[in-house]
Amino acid sequence: MSADRLSSVSKEVKPESVLLHPLGTAAAPEQELLCIFGTGDLGRSLGQRLLQSGYRVVYGSRRPHSCGPLPLGAQATSHEAAAQSAGVVFICIHRGHYDFLETLAPQLEGKVLVDVSNNLKKNIYPEANAEYLQRLIPGAHVVKAFNTLSAWGLQNGPSDANRQVFLCGNSAEAKQAVAEMSTKLGLTVLDKGSLSAARELEDFPLQLFPEWRLPLRVAVGLTAFFFFYLLIRDIIYAYVVQGKDVSFRIMVSLANKVFPIVSLIMLCLCYLPGVIAAFLQLYRGTKYRRFPDWLDRWMLCRKQLGLIALGFAFLHVLYTLVIPIRYYVRFRIAEHTISQIKENTTSVFDTTTAWRADSYYSMGILGFGLFILLGITSLPSVTNALSWREFSFIQSKLGYLTVFFCTFHTYLYGWSRFLNPSSYKWYTPQAYLLSLVVPSLLIVLKLLLLLPCVDRSLIRIRQGWERNDPEDSSAKAL
Ligand code: NAP
Repeated sequence: MSADRLSSVSKEVKPESVLLHPLGTAAAPEQELLCIFGTGDLGRSLGQRLLQSGYRVVYGSRRPHSCGPLPLGAQATSHEAAAQSAGVVFICIHRGHYDFLETLAPQLEGKVLVDVSNNLKKNIYPEANAEYLQRLIPGAHVVKAFNTLSAWGLQNGPSDANRQVFLCGNSAEAKQAVAEMSTKLGLTVLDKGSLSAARELEDFPLQLFPEWRLPLRVAVGLTAFFFFYLLIRDIIYAYVVQGKDVSFRIMVSLANKVFPIVSLIMLCLCYLPGVIAAFLQLYRGTKYRRFPDWLDRWMLCRKQLGLIALGFAFLHVLYTLVIPIRYYVRFRIAEHTISQIKENTTSVFDTTTAWRADSYYSMGILGFGLFILLGITSLPSVTNALSWREFSFIQSKLGYLTVFFCTFHTYLYGWSRFLNPSSYKWYTPQAYLLSLVVPSLLIVLKLLLLLPCVDRSLIRIRQGWERNDPEDSSAKAL
């Protein structure tokens, strides 16, 4: 919109009136005609949204007279006629059927072609669909866009749909036209550059929770390892050595040992890469060298590691809450009480045990409370409401406090059990001892980083200081 036009619009606005939409996104004054090839799911949803946003729509179809119900106000005609009538053509057709478009090259010359297509798998074609379309019609301006939206999402409106439109193309004007159109549809646009980015855009919808894969694998691996470890120690050992069938313990006792162990280790795995990165920076004396790929990948999935750990902690809490109503527990309490009555004996109150048990529960409750806080602040809506300092205070300072509470909770659980030789069934240590390896290591490393001399060096490095910087004479001082 030109400056003259803008000023004339602002003069027309009465002082007390309120603009309901930004000037740039106002509905088109004269209804622009857009063309859609294909009357399938996406073609119809897109057409409906375009009509609702003030555009006129004409469909290009193989069967214009029998193509099924179209959005109210839209017309259908042959591909040739539809292409000639509009400047922008949406190709809502599967790539496998693109060949016929070559015959329409004269009608599509100079037009903006919007390629919305996706593939069923990655790398099934040598080139991206949009690049193939550009090769078929070299005289057109192909823009890749809308492929990450779904027909369902478009139909349900921007509040329900994924609002982001990624687009790319070689013509800046063509991209601008598609971007303006997207804005009028209530969508937000992200320009990904030239048409060579089309393959990346086409791969987006094929991704299935990519950032969750590694954390889920870690969770499954740890769960399987500790489940079998405990199965051998707690169930099979009792059966083989003592001739006792305690297999019922699998359902609650065993699960309630596996879940807290996995939760604690995964929580620590969430903080360990940060500590490793800090030591790497100290060792290299600079923050300007890239971390190894494995560390980068690890750092990028910290949030997912933490959320899965929180899920396991929830399970641990739920399983713990049912302990008093378990048949086995009620039976053992009743049996113990009755035997005391029969033998006319009483237990002596042990203050140390009471302290230990209460501290154990208290640490667990505090750790879980802080863990929930970490989980809540990782939600995008909450994160966005926090300043960077507030976010890092919660995720870092309170995060380490959570690690400390949960680790201490586990130490209190074990107490002096590790001193008992009979606890080393088949020469294996108890599972809780294994679960303490990573947290203990993390806490020791973090304490080392908190030493004033180490902390000072790390702060300097993170502020841009480099050990091998020849211009910095203070380098020798460190
Ligand atoms: P669809 O329901 O199968 O519709 C495809 C349309 O293409 C048909 O209705 C037909 O329209 C036309 N067509 C079929 N065979 C043809 C041929 N041999 N020659 C010429 N035209 C032919 O598919 P869709 O779900 O709308 O998807 C269309 C494109 O959008 C695909 O590339 C898909 O990857 C992409 N996409 C779809 C979605 C979605 O949610 N559905 C989301 C993002 C991207 P006429 O009978 O009118 O010719």
